[in-house]
Amino acid sequence: MTDATVSPADLETLKYRLDAYESLLQSFKAAGYTFSLFDSDGQLESGEILLRHDVDLSVDRALAMAECEHRLGVQSTYCVLLNAPAYDIVDPRTVRILQRISKLGHEIALHFDTHVYWKPTAEPHPHSVASKVEQELTVLTRVVGEEISSVSFHIPPQWVLGRSYDGFVNTYAPRFFEEIAYLSDSSQKWTTTPPFPNGLAETFQLLVHPGLWHDEHRPMAKIVRERCQRTHRAVDHYFDPLKLEEDRLR
Ligand SMILES: [Zn+2]
Repeated sequence: MTDATVSPADLETLKYRLDAYESLLQSFKAAGYTFSLFDSDGQLESGEILLRHDVDLSVDRALAMAECEHRLGVQSTYCVLLNAPAYDIVDPRTVRILQRISKLGHEIALHFDTHVYWKPTAEPHPHSVASKVEQELTVLTRVVGEEISSVSFHIPPQWVLGRSYDGFVNTYAPRFFEEIAYLSDSSQKWTTTPPFPNGLAETFQLLVHPGLWHDEHRPMAKIVRERCQRTHRAVDHYFDPLKLEEDRLR
C-alpha cells in the first residue's frame, strides 16, 4: 500500500495498482483538492482536479476504478469509444456497466476516434469534426440513456488540441488543457518517472487510463497482449460457425 500521507509531489515512481491509485486520491484529498466534472462554462477554482479516464481497453477496469473513487467520494469523467475492438458499446453487459458507473456519480463522456474518419495529416474543417462528434454523441446518449456532452479525443491529432467547439465540451479546450496544468499516466510512464515532477499545480486535469491499473501491477505490454487475444477469441467465436456453414455448403 502506498502511504497516503506522502505528498504526490514527492513520489518518485508509482506501481499501477488500484490500492496505490486509491492512496494517490487520498493524498490529493488530504492536500485539500476537490474533484470536478468538465463544464462548458463556470470558472475553475484553485484546488480543483478534473479527473478524466479514457477507456481504451476495458469497461471492467473502468468499473473497478469507478467503485474505488466512489468509496472516497471522488467524481470523475469516463470517456468511452463507440468503435473500439476492445469492447462492444451496445453489448447489454457494457451498457449496464456504464449505467452503473454513472449511478456511482461519475460522468460518462465520448472518447472520439478521429482516425476512423480522417488521416492525422488531413486537417478537416472544425465544422466537419463537430458534425461527426455530434452524430456519435447522439448514439452514445441513446445507448447510455442520459445526455452525453463532453468529449475527449483518442490519440489526439494536433488539430483538436487547444480548440473549443460549439455543441460539446472538448476536454482539450484551452481552459482544460492550456490554461491549467495537464498530466497523464500514459504508457505506464509513472513506473519509471516521477508522476508530478514539477510539484502540484493549483488546478489541473489528470488523465488516468483505467485499463492500465489492476489489483497487482501488470506491465502494459502484457495487458495489451491479453486484451488483444480476448478480442481475437471473440472474433473467432463469431466467424467459426460461419466457416463450418461454408464447409457444409461446399
Ligand atoms: Zn484513447
